[in-house]
Amino acid sequence: MLLPKFKFHEPKTEQEACQILTEYGDKARPIAGGTDLVVNMKKKLMSPEHVVSLSRIASLKGLQKENGFVKIGACFTVADMIEAKDIRENVNALSAGAAALGSPLVRNLATIGGNLGSARPAADLPPPLMAYGATLILKSGKGKRNIAIDDFFKSPGTTECRPDEFIAEIQVLTPPAGAGAGYINLGARKAQDCNIVNVASFICLNKSGVIDTARVILGCVGPVHLRAPAAEKILMGEKPDKVLFRQAADAAKTDCLPITDFRGTGEYKRAMVGVLTQRTLEIALDEAKKNN
Ligand SMILES: Cc1cc2nc3c(=O)[nH]c(=O)nc-3n(C[C@H](O)[C@H](O)[C@H](O)COP(=O)(O)OP(=O)(O)OC[C@H]3O[C@@H](n4cnc5c(N)ncnc54)[C@H](O)[C@@H]3O)c2cc1C
Repeated sequence: MLLPKFKFHEPKTEQEACQILTEYGDKARPIAGGTDLVVNMKKKLMSPEHVVSLSRIASLKGLQKENGFVKIGACFTVADMIEAKDIRENVNALSAGAAALGSPLVRNLATIGGNLGSARPAADLPPPLMAYGATLILKSGKGKRNIAIDDFFKSPGTTECRPDEFIAEIQVLTPPAGAGAGYINLGARKAQDCNIVNVASFICLNKSGVIDTARVILGCVGPVHLRAPAAEKILMGEKPDKVLFRQAADAAKTDCLPITDFRGTGEYKRAMVGVLTQRTLEIALDEAKKNN
């Protein structure tokens, strides 16, 4: 399969990238690792006339822990995320999401910004990032704006990012004492496969051991990654135990809209939402206890 014709731009600064994206608007598309965009271009699902590489912009490749946040540049690769101590030690469910993504070859190129920009409902990084309540920093010639990740995805393949904008940074608040999160993905194979269901859960216990924050995120079972409000409601204000997690897992099954396709029936996916919700809550509780 041949790529359609396009003009390739390689800006060296964010400002230069903003100028190019402003000039070409919806005829342009940013590219980072290219593991998603190039495939889509070969399949003729996307045919941008201008492809704007972000991978030479040094300021988009950093990782730092600052003011209680882990700040990850949009072009930080998935392979580097797995190695990063700041991610592993502070936001371990994100590390688990990175480790679940693709194969070593894909992870060496794939970036966090590209994973979010692709807006695939089965992607591995949105659930843990949503569980931690991450914020995305979008930049354009008009300046920068912050958007909560919960508000970022609009439908499969589309996001709140305007054609003249790009994701510059992802900020994750370091979880407080008593907080923990877990992420699990289920695929037909262990690697190089699209997920059938993926779930991330986050809980924060107060000093009395009661859950005062709960976020449960479901992937592959709706047009975008979904929060599970019924499950979260059951968890809030309660002391965690297996019975509570079972109730929350049952509620999560009512929080999703799985379709039947070649990956599995809607009924199977709904059942797996229950299983993964229970297991991710158990991981989250273990982490929360360690983090106390
Ligand atoms: C064999 C194979 C296996 C895969 N397995 C998985 C998997 O297990 N889990 C998974 O989640 N994904 C998987 N993917 C999909 C893909 O690798 C990931 O989504 C990856 O993180 C995309 O990152 P990238 O840097 O390559 O994105 P690119 O291909 O460069 O871009 C992807 C999209 O995001 C946009 N974009 C890129 N950067 C930005 C930015 N900074 N701001 C705004 N928009 C941006 C692009 O315009 C494009 O639409 C797989 C792909 C392949 C080819």
